[in-house]
This record gives sequence, structure tokens and C-alpha cells, in this order.
Amino acid sequence: MNRPFRLSVAVPLYNEESVLPELLRRTGIVLDSLAGGPHEIVLVDDGSSDRTLEILEAEAAHNPRIVGVALSRNFGHQAALTAALDHCSGDAVVVMDADLQDAPEVIPRFVEKYRDGYDVVYATRAHRKEAWWLKLSYFLFYRLLAVLSQLDLPLDAGDFALISRRVVEQLRRLPEHNRYLRGLRSWVGFRQIGIPVERGERHSGQSKYSFRKLVELASDGIFAFSIVPLRAAILLGALATILAGLFTVYAIYVRLFLRRSPQGFTALVLLITFLSGILLFFMGIIGEYVGRVYEEVKARPLYIIGKTVGWPPSRKLGVLSPESAATTPMTPTCPAPSKDGTE
Ligand code: UDP
Ligand code: MG
Repeated sequence: MNRPFRLSVAVPLYNEESVLPELLRRTGIVLDSLAGGPHEIVLVDDGSSDRTLEILEAEAAHNPRIVGVALSRNFGHQAALTAALDHCSGDAVVVMDADLQDAPEVIPRFVEKYRDGYDVVYATRAHRKEAWWLKLSYFLFYRLLAVLSQLDLPLDAGDFALISRRVVEQLRRLPEHNRYLRGLRSWVGFRQIGIPVERGERHSGQSKYSFRKLVELASDGIFAFSIVPLRAAILLGALATILAGLFTVYAIYVRLFLRRSPQGFTALVLLITFLSGILLFFMGIIGEYVGRVYEEVKARPLYIIGKTVGWPPSRKLGVLSPESAATTPMTPTCPAPSKDGTE
């Protein structure tokens, strides 16, 4: 059966009360103009402390397009995005920020490429309207990551993208906790293409990414997609060993033939502090990986749902195929009671 094309727009929300009505208005206009449907907007409230959830519920009451998921607390942007992807039912999903830095008006250009047969159409940042130091940091980070990672990660591509259903299904299979979705999206493969899109300024409100959160996201990108930092320790270790060997040969020569011992207390102190610094640095790097292994081993759910609005969409729309309705979101599960019974 040939059913009409349905698009889902996935948006994480964290304290976005000032943007939400405008976001829904502009996205609504774009979705109205798209062929097929009914299209949906999947909004995930990431534990907002303002009126975001209230507005979301009020809008959902008269807008059948809205699917709302409220997380039990703030789990972070990437976890909220994951929750949104887990609740999308369309043939393709557009991942978008709430603050209208990603213009919804670009969506038809994504869909056009999707119809040309691409599974992932991502926006590359042609121009950014952000502070110069942030622009420079983004520029350097994406290039550093490209050098470090074995994957061919596209430069200057953020989360704003259209992803086909089959890629979304593959993303849902990836259980990792420190998620760097734009990297995972590349990792999945299939046909991918970037289109240049201007990144505007935030519509209103403050950026929800503190400097710390940005650094965390960047390190998730590096540590999840590269083990080069670990290998660097091997290289540096080998280099230090070779240098030490050469110096030993020199010291023996000086002792046997010139009848004196090499001097240099200051050099010794410098060398010891330098090498201890390097050792501690690489212990830190190993610690980063070990910490991430620990996070994964605990296998906690990526997010916990407090409440859903208009989910599952089949109830309102009656258009879901049974197999897509069966893709269950990653809701928390209770561990089975232990059998060694002390009770
Ligand atoms: N966001 C979220 N949880 C967070 C932080 C941010 O869901 O803990 C959402 C936020 O509402 C927005 C998107 O992630 O839709 C991007 O955040 P923001 O625009 O503040 O980041 P920036 O564009 O400044 O990097
Ligand atoms: Mg933003």
C-alpha cells in the first residue's frame, strides 16, 4: 500500500517558554505546505523549570500534530534529542533546536534531497551569528575531531538534519550514554549529504548550553569517536624511552672515556616534573575512557519519562503501520528481583 509521506519534527525544549509559541507557529506553516501528512511535531520537555510544559500541554490540546514527552528531570540536550527520536513515527525525522537558530523554513530543502534518495541531509553552517570566540572554538573543534577520528565526520555540521526512518531505527539501537548524535548519525552510514544553511541568532531567551556543557559535548565527541589520545601515550612513552636510552649511552661514554659524570641537578628536577606532568596527563586521559566505560556498564536508561501528551500518535492519527508503532521508546525498566532470596 502506498501511504502518504509523513514527516516528524523532533525538538528538545529546556526552558523555552518564550520561543515555543513562535516555534510552533513557524513550523506549523512549513508543515502545512509540505505534501503528504499528517506530519507531527515531537517536543521533548527536558525538565524545564519555567512554563514550557504548561504551554506545550495547552497547545497540544488543540493541535493534533503535537506529540509531547516530558522527562522527569533535566537529562541534557542529547538525551532529550534521543527521547524525541524514540517517539517519532514519521517516514523521516527533522531534528531541530527550539530556539529558531535552525530555521524551520529550511525543512522543504531537506525533504527535496530526501526525495532524491538521501537518508541523511544535514545542515552545514555557512555563517554563524555567534560570538567570535565561540565561532573560533567550533571551527577548531570540528577540525581537531576530523583529525582524531577514523570516521569521516563532516565539518561544521550540527544536529539540524533530516534523517530517514531506517537511520532513526539504527540510531535507536545504539545504547551508548555519552551521546554525540551528529557523530552517531555519520557512523550509521547510508547516503548522506550536507547543504549549507545559515545559522541565525537565538530567537529569544538565553543559550541553555553553559561553557561546561559545551566542553562536555566536545569531549563526548572526541572520546566516543577516537582512541588516538590513548595511542598518543604510547608514542610519547616510546619517544621518552628512546631519549633515555641515548642519554644512557652518552653518560657511559662520558664516564669511561672522559672520566667525569654528567652534571645537572636543575635539568634533573625539570625532567622529573615534566615527566610527572605527562604521566598525570595521560592518567587523566585513561581516566576519561575508564569513566565512560563505567557509565556504560551501569547501563542506566538514557532518560526517564515523566509524562506524555498525545502519545502514541496512532490514537489521534490512525495512520501508523503496526511495525512502526511497535518500536518502543526506551522507558526505564525495573530490574528482575534477585533469586538468591534473603527474604
Ligand atoms: N536543550 C535541552 N536540554 C539542555 C540544554 C538545551 O533540551 O539541557 C535544548 C534547548 O532547549 C534547545 C537546544 O537544546 O532546543 C539547543 O540549546 P541552545 O540553543 O541553548 O544551545 P546553543 O544553540 O546555544 O548551542
Ligand atoms: Mg541555540
